[in-house]
Amino acid sequence: MDETLLPIYKRLIMAMPLEIIGLGKDSVEFVWDESEKQTFSAWQLRVACNCAHCVSEITGERTLDPNSIAKAITVTNMELVGNYGVSIHFSDSHTTGIYRFAALKDMTPYG
Ligand SMILES: [Zn+2]
Repeated sequence: MDETLLPIYKRLIMAMPLEIIGLGKDSVEFVWDESEKQTFSAWQLRVACNCAHCVSEITGERTLDPNSIAKAITVTNMELVGNYGVSIHFSDSHTTGIYRFAALKDMTPYG
């Protein structure tokens, strides 16, 4: 293999996390490999939801008010979506959010 392609190849095969830890918790940890992990608060993931209920399909504008989401929100269920993302259900009964792994890797983890 062309060595210059290695970083790109590595990023592609690393697109799926080894582990996602967050069920019942107020944060979700994505373990990408032994050296790379990201932790997001459940609240951060909830307000970043890109489903049709949270973002206008017509204007692309976020219609969800972050202030309407309780800080103490937790994850009630998680399911893999194909090999590209995870569906996360939250304690506010919101179940339609799908989080693409590629997009998560570009998000800045906090709290
Ligand atoms: Zn949503």
